[in-house]
Amino acid sequence: MSKLNTLSHDVSLQKLNTFGIAAQAKLFLPIIDLAQLSALRDDVSLRQMPRLILGGGSNLVLSDRVDALVLHMCLHGRQLTAEDDDFYYVTAAAGENWHAFVQWTLSQGWPGLENLSLIPGTVGAAPIQNIGAYGVEIQDVFHELQAFDFETGEVVVMNKKACAFAYRDSIFKQQLRDRMVILNVSFALPKCWMPKLAYADVDKWLLQANIEKPDASDVSRAIIAIRQAKLPDPQVIGNAGSFFKNPVVSATIRHALLGNHPTLVSYLQPSGDYKLAAGWLIEQAGWKGRNLGAAGVYEKQALVLVNRGHATGADVRALADQIRADVFKQFAVELDIEPNFY
Ligand code: FAD
Ligand code: NAP
Repeated sequence: MSKLNTLSHDVSLQKLNTFGIAAQAKLFLPIIDLAQLSALRDDVSLRQMPRLILGGGSNLVLSDRVDALVLHMCLHGRQLTAEDDDFYYVTAAAGENWHAFVQWTLSQGWPGLENLSLIPGTVGAAPIQNIGAYGVEIQDVFHELQAFDFETGEVVVMNKKACAFAYRDSIFKQQLRDRMVILNVSFALPKCWMPKLAYADVDKWLLQANIEKPDASDVSRAIIAIRQAKLPDPQVIGNAGSFFKNPVVSATIRHALLGNHPTLVSYLQPSGDYKLAAGWLIEQAGWKGRNLGAAGVYEKQALVLVNRGHATGADVRALADQIRADVFKQFAVELDIEPNFY
């Protein structure tokens, strides 16, 4: 049991989730090495408990009482593991802060992650929903990961195919939810690099800064500035980023919607379907800047739900349900929730 001597009861998670929800964990263990995970699995009663694997707490909504064993990922370390003609292979442990890792790769001269600057949370959580921003997803630069499998007790290596990445989704949000503890993630960062500037805000920022041929650090600076101007800082206003995924609809449905809503914001997908901007739908449904109880919709970006002070997980759920119902009533489009509830 000595590997588990830092196991604590009734621990507050308020400072460990970016919504700032005052949740209490039944059991809590900071994970600093693999041996602890094996020891946990060897203990029959702990093995059978529901688990919450906690990174930076920036993509979840907690109940007041989290009746689970919370494993707080505190594994650290990052390194260049290999290099070939085409790529730098860079690996980081699950508990590394994502943004600090991105900035470190850029400072080393290894581009590829710059569009994902300033996303909160940890490296280990990045594959869970295949984090994405400004036209890049981690699947674009992902190499492989190592994970501890709670069912078999083994460490497995998973490549891109095994992770089944999709839009804000992966196998870790589906069949393998709460079963795999991601230990570290490796990225293949391209030696032949081209900036990805499809998003209008980025292009506009670079133009205003008179940067004609941006390098990866310029793109990162642009994205940091845009995000700081548009998104609420969780240190100031509790939130979990975008609360809903952008719904994808067929060309026929989009055409019908455009008939009634000519300003509908949509983007053609490689499949021929269209991605609708969920923030626009929520704004049209009248929710931008409005509150329901202690939870509200951010005034600068309707896709972000915020904690107006002392919100509970139930308050956030009630607001999300009301928004979904109103958007459905107006557009007959279903909004899917992005963060995980515990
Ligand atoms: P947590 O919230 O701690 O966990 C999220 C899920 O991953 C949980 O189900 C948890 O159990 C699981 N998990 C965490 N670590 C591990 C691990 N090591 N092994 C197995 N499972 C694990 N997301 C985007 O995709 N793009 C964005 O641009 C973006 N912007 C954001 C902006 C703001 C202001 C905020 C608050 C959030 C934003 N997010 C964004 C959401 C969030 O930051 C990311 O999803 C991030 O990857 C979550 O990391 P985390 O460490 O906080 O995960
Ligand atoms: P934005 O630039 O105002 O764009 C609004 C929506 O339109 C976005 O959701 C984006 O979809 C889509 N979009 C814009 N330009 C596009 C293009 N050229 N091609 C395809 N789709 C386009 O969005 P924002 O709120 O400021 O966020 C900027 C980026 O950061 C987005 O990629 C967003 O996903 C990401 N972000 C994510 C979270 C999160 O928690 N998941 C939080 C904040 C920001 P996509 O969302 O599919 O990119």
